[in-house]
Amino acid sequence: MIDRAAAVGLLQSLVRIPSVNPRGEDSPAERDVATFVADWLNRRGVPAETREVLPGRPNVTAILEGMDTSRSLLLEAHLDTVEVAGMVGDPFDGRVEGNRLYGRGSCDTKGSLAAFMLAVADLAARESKPPISITLVCAVDEEHLFKGILSFLEEKRPFVAAIVGEPTGLDLVVAHKGMVRFRVVTAGKAAHSSMPWDGDNAIERMVDVVGHIRGTLMPEVARMSHPLVGPATMAITLIQGGTAINVVPDRCSIDVDRRTLPGEDPEAIWRRYKQDLEALPQGHVEVVEPLLLDHAMETDPESPVVRALAAEVRRSGREPRIAGVNYGTDGSKIALGGTPTVVFGPGSIQQAHQAVEFINLEELVAASTIVAGLLERFDGTEVVG
Ligand SMILES: [Zn+2]
Repeated sequence: MIDRAAAVGLLQSLVRIPSVNPRGEDSPAERDVATFVADWLNRRGVPAETREVLPGRPNVTAILEGMDTSRSLLLEAHLDTVEVAGMVGDPFDGRVEGNRLYGRGSCDTKGSLAAFMLAVADLAARESKPPISITLVCAVDEEHLFKGILSFLEEKRPFVAAIVGEPTGLDLVVAHKGMVRFRVVTAGKAAHSSMPWDGDNAIERMVDVVGHIRGTLMPEVARMSHPLVGPATMAITLIQGGTAINVVPDRCSIDVDRRTLPGEDPEAIWRRYKQDLEALPQGHVEVVEPLLLDHAMETDPESPVVRALAAEVRRSGREPRIAGVNYGTDGSKIALGGTPTVVFGPGSIQQAHQAVEFINLEELVAASTIVAGLLERFDGTEVVG
């Protein structure tokens, strides 16, 4: 039984410990929340330990043994949040108004984290063990470079399936997009702008690159679509060039964000764009090392974990909904190793990364109850219910 007051108290504690992703800066961002999570689990009979991924930034790994210890279900939720600039009110007060709890991370994704912690603790308090072991991983750095989950996956532990906690509004997300982010640089030669013939204008070279991206690459991308995640997209999101109004610029760069579909290979896409753009007739174009390559995710909706989770959603009185989303998650990294993975959690992505972030408390308790039911009944193969 998941107690509402306990759920509210736990989520409040998590929200009140800031864990803003420092995006490459040196900061022990998730340290305090990781310590809290590990202590909370240990006190409830779920052996948990912290393991440093980046300086002062540890993952938490907890294992609850099942009757069959040779097989394990993975639960994963990230510890970090996005920035708080521009937020309305105190971002870390965790205040409750009506059926909502407010604050940075309440929805993305400390709500899911709390739901998983409560579910695992609920199972630990019972007389009988769950059918298979449960591994809960609370990972750092999801909002930047996914270093927490990537570090955990280096251990190459096998899992029968995985549930990744993100605000899906209790939808069963079996597909999401991936990412190819790269920078294109044009090189020229600086000159006094009164004698532009002495120079070589890098911005003007970039205009041709942008023209090619808009005229050829973008229409090609727009033609590709996936039934659950929709169309692939490509956007030029940053441009930099020039030093002063009276100097012909010798350098210009753009950053491009391409969202990929399940089945696309991010590495191959980047290599193809590199070849294409560097071969443009005006020359002096370089596509530098990718800023981020991230796989899309796609799990068979008929796989045992999806069916078992759907049965638990139905048991809670809701109609299970299979869905796809545009954003990326830690799930694609787990799924890449062959583990059937579902993204599932309370709260709406509409409230994630927003000036006002909140979670619906009914959904929080429902998510935890659904996951506890899955842990109690799922044996990795059989379809429940
Ligand atoms: Zn998230």
